[in-house]
Amino acid sequence: MDQQPEPLADRVSDAVALLVGKHTVRCPQPGCRVSVRYRAVTPDEAKRLTDLATDHTRH
Ligand SMILES: [Zn+2]
Repeated sequence: MDQQPEPLADRVSDAVALLVGKHTVRCPQPGCRVSVRYRAVTPDEAKRLTDLATDHTRH
């Protein structure tokens, strides 16, 4: 979609991502590559996904 290689385009994409509530949550455990990406979800769903991504005992 957004294939413009300009740094400014990346910055704009980041800004848009913030505006639409797009997030990537990574597991804090060393060596664990689990991450959860979401956007435009309800606060409850965001919390659930964040918990899932950051609580290593649950995945
Ligand atoms: Zn993990």
